[in-house]
Amino acid sequence: MSMTKPNTVPLARPELTPDGNGVSACADVLVIGGGPAGCWAAITAAENGASVVLVDKGYCGTSGATASAGTGVWYVEPDADEREKAIQSREAMGGWLVDRRWMHRVLDKTYEQMNRLAEWGYPFPVGQDGKQVRRGVQGPEYMRRMRKQVARSRVRILDQSPALELLRNSDGEVVGARGVRRQLGDAWTVHSGAVVVATGGCAFLSGGLGCDVLTGDGALMAAEAGAEFSGMEFSNSYAISPTFSTVTKTAFYRFATFYTDEGLLEGAGAQRGRSVIAKALLRGPVYAQLDQAPPHIERNLRDAQPNFFLPFDREGINPFTQRFPVTLRLEGTVRGTGGLRLTDSECATTVPGLYAAGDAATRELICGGFTGGGSHNAAWALSSGTWAGEGAAAYATAKRGIANHGTAGSGTAEPGEGVGVAGLNPTSRVDKELTAELVTKLVQDEVHPYDKNYFRTAASLDASLANLDDLWTRVEAGLRGGDGYPPRGENLATALFRAREAAAMVAHARWMYNAARERTETRGMHKRADHPQLDPGQQQRRLVHGLAEVSNGLDPQRPYSALELAK
Ligand SMILES: Cc1cc2nc3c(=O)[nH]c(=O)nc-3n(C[C@H](O)[C@H](O)[C@H](O)COP(=O)(O)OP(=O)(O)OC[C@H]3O[C@@H](n4cnc5c(N)ncnc54)[C@H](O)[C@@H]3O)c2cc1C
Repeated sequence: MSMTKPNTVPLARPELTPDGNGVSACADVLVIGGGPAGCWAAITAAENGASVVLVDKGYCGTSGATASAGTGVWYVEPDADEREKAIQSREAMGGWLVDRRWMHRVLDKTYEQMNRLAEWGYPFPVGQDGKQVRRGVQGPEYMRRMRKQVARSRVRILDQSPALELLRNSDGEVVGARGVRRQLGDAWTVHSGAVVVATGGCAFLSGGLGCDVLTGDGALMAAEAGAEFSGMEFSNSYAISPTFSTVTKTAFYRFATFYTDEGLLEGAGAQRGRSVIAKALLRGPVYAQLDQAPPHIERNLRDAQPNFFLPFDREGINPFTQRFPVTLRLEGTVRGTGGLRLTDSECATTVPGLYAAGDAATRELICGGFTGGGSHNAAWALSSGTWAGEGAAAYATAKRGIANHGTAGSGTAEPGEGVGVAGLNPTSRVDKELTAELVTKLVQDEVHPYDKNYFRTAASLDASLANLDDLWTRVEAGLRGGDGYPPRGENLATALFRAREAAAMVAHARWMYNAARERTETRGMHKRADHPQLDPGQQQRRLVHGLAEVSNGLDPQRPYSALELAK
């Protein structure tokens, strides 16, 4: 039972599999994460002749940001004018960092796949013209059907099985991953020809509904394998939420008036006026009331987002006639746009064998630095998931020499070494004072406050980075779930993935603030209080990579927006 040899402790160590239990499997493609992006990736990889395993930290179909709420989808009929309008509406908002070619691709793919969803029986509502309205889905119903479709595609699903680290071969290719089964307390290993990371964004455990699993684990794993990130400065999305609720659906606040104890809060609003709310919250409580909603639409609003109203009903508050206290919850990269950098149209990352989809991948290509009022994220999850599934399947099946005409097989069991360090294999002596809870609190202290993350300055970023760099050094050197663990009531598997979650959040905070430090302007959601204007000279996507040392750079690939085309 001894764990005294730092850096040499294999994950699947005997105490995790006392009876020789656990899972060891081979597949062409391993998909990590079972939200919409992961499900579309798994289904598509299987359709392309790959054998597929999908692992999820929670229960695939109910876990993640989509599963818990109604979701608008960027579904635009293939009409040239409509599409052009849809594209233009996002370019300025995103700070001219988009790539129009990707926007067209995503519109095409979203249209195609939403229509397939209809063929699979998704009950879209019917409009007055008798046609189905396919511009949105109810998350629970959508994900229930996606899980069904994944299972129909003969994908093996491991629920409640967080991935902890990637496996890499001697050529530097990603060849699988391993993790734990949190309920059973044992370990799993999947050897695969390629891996798709679809673990969602990082919301820093700030209490938003559906975001409890979104700690950016996939990004940490990818970074350990050498991956690069883009747009990490666009990671400070905050959502309006009642203080007594986890529901962060913000669309209905367009009907709200905001107040402080002194009276009306001038300039506050759901979109552009959110910074007014943040500033007021730094001084004291803020209240909202949905008093701008025409009375006749209350029923429609309840039908559209039933779970928005649940907390009000529980508290006995009528949000249309009564004021209620609100806060802003950090959603980080979930409704931010930064993530793994993609190097081709099939969502390959900068690491061979590793693909990324959904919120784990950068969404700058279609959103620039701002996602605004939804719908693009869902379209991106669906489209990038499809492409990543195709890319990973092609990569993996080519490795076994049957590209394009192979039948689903068991994949190859290529040997690979785990590359996980922070929280798993400390580089020095285990620091028993350093718990996942403590690390989480310390990182939250740097990223939650509005005066550090919403309104950024060089001074605040430098101060936070100094704290976060020290914290990272301690985490890498001495954090390991399972030493001094498990805390009461938890098993060792849980302790291990909690430690990895904490490490992933520290890594995210450092990538975010390093990129934010270098972007000396205000663009998209990135607001520099000391540089409040957009600087046309900085119309380029920023890259970061690294863990011990974080490096900054500019993407050599220029944005491809209307502004760029006009030059
Ligand atoms: C409140 C809210 C409302 C939103 N509304 C809209 C909207 O109206 N329109 C829109 O376009 N977008 C919306 N979004 C954004 C949208 O939900 C996300 O962009 C979308 O869910 C991304 O899909 P995904 O599959 O990448 O990630 P998710 O749906 O978040 O799924 C990630 C999955 O990865 C799993 N996972 C995480 N870590 C691990 C690990 N270590 N091992 C294994 N599995 C792991 C999780 O359990 C989860 O199942 C909203 C987001 C929020 C929070």
